[in-house]
Amino acid sequence: MSGNASNASGGPPALQTTAISASYGAAENAVTDLTLRVSQGQVVSLLGPNGAGKSTSMRAISGLLGLHRGRLTSGRVELFGKDMTGARASRRVRAGLAQCLEGRMVFPGLTVAENLTTGGHVRRYRGAALTAARDEVLALLPRLRDLLDRKAGYLSGGEQQMLAIARALMSRPKLLLMDEPSLGLAPQLVEQVRDIIVSINEQGTSILLVEQNARMALSISGYAYLLEGGRVYAEGTPAELEQDNDIAAAYLGVGTAPAAPRGDDS
Ligand code: ATP
Repeated sequence: MSGNASNASGGPPALQTTAISASYGAAENAVTDLTLRVSQGQVVSLLGPNGAGKSTSMRAISGLLGLHRGRLTSGRVELFGKDMTGARASRRVRAGLAQCLEGRMVFPGLTVAENLTTGGHVRRYRGAALTAARDEVLALLPRLRDLLDRKAGYLSGGEQQMLAIARALMSRPKLLLMDEPSLGLAPQLVEQVRDIIVSINEQGTSILLVEQNARMALSISGYAYLLEGGRVYAEGTPAELEQDNDIAAAYLGVGTAPAAPRGDDS
């Protein structure tokens, strides 16, 4: 499971990072030597406590580290077998990547319909093509159809989360990075988000899922990586990880011991 385990399952890789390390300014690496794979058609989770490096890993993959004054210090990022290590974010999007950002990040002053249009921008949809893309997305998230003319800033937290997912889907991604899609949602909405992720995956999109809600994430993942202090602490299938009592209790919110990360003696 940990040590020399690797995610060898499934088809060819949608995403392969090899020993990537990333830093912000002069500080030591926020992520160190992360080797991670998402096979085509797979849902893979990236789990770990606050500050473990999950968002940094996502930024390194999407090419958005620079926006946060960070940089990749070593390693390689490949999307669908092509080296994207130094590529701009826009090139990665054209290769099939989309990211739903943590904190929803919808445009509050734009309507739901306008937010969706911005999500399709990279594909330069016009007229009927834009409508078709929007209809596809609304079939997965039908609740948004009644809200098309509403300003995104007036939506509830759950609706904004749905919109963030919908906007990312407008580019018809082959690989979707999802950063904490269940954050702050009521249990019933977490269930809905979970079902939406499953539907997106069933339509052929590979998914890398960052979640604090490990139980939810593992219930739909084929493989998971557990980060701590910027390094992979353990990896394996959900069944493998859950079998390890220490890991299950400390990190995964399952088992009987208190949910405190290893090394946290507070
Ligand atoms: P959380 O679950 O709290 O979002 P995370 O696992 O996503 O945590 P990161 O946000 O990737 O963790 O943070 C990893 C480390 O990098 C932390 O020590 C954090 O303080 C640091 N860090 C993150 N963003 C920046 C930044 N823009 N500038 C400097 N340091 C940062």
